[in-house]
Amino acid sequence: ASGYSLLRDPHHNKGLAFTEKERDAHYIRGLLPPVVMSQELQEKKLLHNLRQYQVPLQKYTALMDLAERNERLFYKLLIDNVEELLPIVYTPTVGEACQKYGSIFQRPQGLYISLKEKGKILEVLKNWPERSIQVIVVTDGERILGLGDLGCQGMGIPVGKLALYTALGGVRPSSCLPITIDVGTNNQQLLDNEFYIGLRQRRATGKEYADLLHEFMCAVKQNYGEKVLVQFEDFANHNAFDLLAKYGTTHLVFNDDIQGTAVVVLAGLVSALKLLGGTLGDHKFLFLGAGEAGTGIAELIALEMSNQTKAPVEETRKNIWLVDSKGLIVSSRKDSLQHFKKPWAHEHAPVTTLLDAVKAIKPTVLIGTSGVGGTFTKEVVEAMAEFNEKPLILALSNPTSQSECTAEQAYTWTQGRAIFASGSPFDPVEYNGKVHIPGQSNNAYIFPGLGLGLVISGAIRVQDAMLLAASEALAGQVTKENFDKGMIYPPFTNIRKISAHIAANVAAKAYELGLATRLPRPENLVKYAESCMYTPNYRTYR
Ligand code: NAP
Ligand code: MN
Repeated sequence: ASGYSLLRDPHHNKGLAFTEKERDAHYIRGLLPPVVMSQELQEKKLLHNLRQYQVPLQKYTALMDLAERNERLFYKLLIDNVEELLPIVYTPTVGEACQKYGSIFQRPQGLYISLKEKGKILEVLKNWPERSIQVIVVTDGERILGLGDLGCQGMGIPVGKLALYTALGGVRPSSCLPITIDVGTNNQQLLDNEFYIGLRQRRATGKEYADLLHEFMCAVKQNYGEKVLVQFEDFANHNAFDLLAKYGTTHLVFNDDIQGTAVVVLAGLVSALKLLGGTLGDHKFLFLGAGEAGTGIAELIALEMSNQTKAPVEETRKNIWLVDSKGLIVSSRKDSLQHFKKPWAHEHAPVTTLLDAVKAIKPTVLIGTSGVGGTFTKEVVEAMAEFNEKPLILALSNPTSQSECTAEQAYTWTQGRAIFASGSPFDPVEYNGKVHIPGQSNNAYIFPGLGLGLVISGAIRVQDAMLLAASEALAGQVTKENFDKGMIYPPFTNIRKISAHIAANVAAKAYELGLATRLPRPENLVKYAESCMYTPNYRTYR
């Protein structure tokens, strides 16, 4: 290959870091200025440049440009500065990037499969340059974060999620494939926008939708085999639960919004118990939002309670209450409820507002999964603080604009007594001379490690026991030092070590269940997971 094309190949490009020897051996001499710069210095320079931008979206485009130019440098920067850069490549900035994707779009970063490709999906998969794919993140763009239907512009989400698979979980970038399935959009603004990049039609539904998805799932298995992980991301709930149920028995699939979120929240609850005392069974949970995230979390909590107490899950569910757009989910509404809400329709008089539900149920834990910002009002949070010494408040909706309340509000309205975490990050808050560090309760803690565990064990199915194993591993990574600061999640700085532990625990469970195909089982799974992780340091070319 010519030196010129080497410099333009993001997988191999090292920019100014090519050594004198490499410049001679690979016909690069003269194509670069004389200086030879180390990767560390390149990284320092980039970070400096990045910090000059005031607007987060500018940082986002600069980082995506870097990924297009020099993949290893992109990942090195991301891994070494994860706390600073996560809010750029991930929530909240990725949300804005999706909203404006049509305008900032330069080069395709993943695969687009639209209704036009019906009947040809296998061929489309073969057009992707990489052959050995281990993880696919796929969206149909219908429920992007709490921002609604962004159609084809949802691509930013699988791209961002897979960047984290590599940076936080160490899955090789060449093994990751972002996919957007475009069946149209019901977002009129996009349909009217001349720069919109997707199909200009309303969403296909019913059989037409199911057939395209089925062709896709079959093509994936045919092309990549049984062990490729398909992560469903940001589908609307009227498809998400059905897809998971339908393909859960035939494919290695995982829904991040239903399952990943549940795992991260359960881990946060288990570690919060160290601050609050008691067991899960001593607590009462109230959710605002009864969709994928809400009912997914609720079900995993009920399952874990049932495992702990040996009470049937039908019993343990009774400690958990959910509110949707029509009010508290109660038995009198049962006939008109979507199937995933029915298990939560307990006996109770109708209640319409969240505030009244809080007063009636008196939960110890309040969880926001509605996608609607500002819904944990002063009255709601004060009510929580009235009957709880330390109210546990999780405002999970993304991005920051949709957060149910801010960290500052949670601490101020409870006189600093709340234990608070949110889906998108908030800065520490000083209240009455004490600094409170809000947690980030986001599935980004989970999916990279969970995915790594599935990949390294060669797992062929995901089961609930593996989700509980992931949760247990994350909770086990919260240190005494973290607890002393009131934190229920470890800092993201240590995420690669955390991911290795999650991966090891998940893999151990896969072996135990007979669902792992990589044999023999490695003795020390943590060490093995670490040894499998991609590192972004430059290679030497001979
Ligand atoms: P979803 O399946 O569409 O569910 C949304 C739920 O909220 C529905 O039950 C809906 O009620 C309810 N709702 C909407 N507006 C409401 C209102 N004004 N008052 C009360 N309830 C209302 O969405 P999802 O997948 O669960 O996601 C919801 C949010 O969670 C999004 O913002 C997403 O970004 C966030 N999320 C966070 C994480 C994380 O890791 N932190 C992970 C996944 C999702 P109806 O059923 O009556 O329509
Ligand atoms: Mn999601």
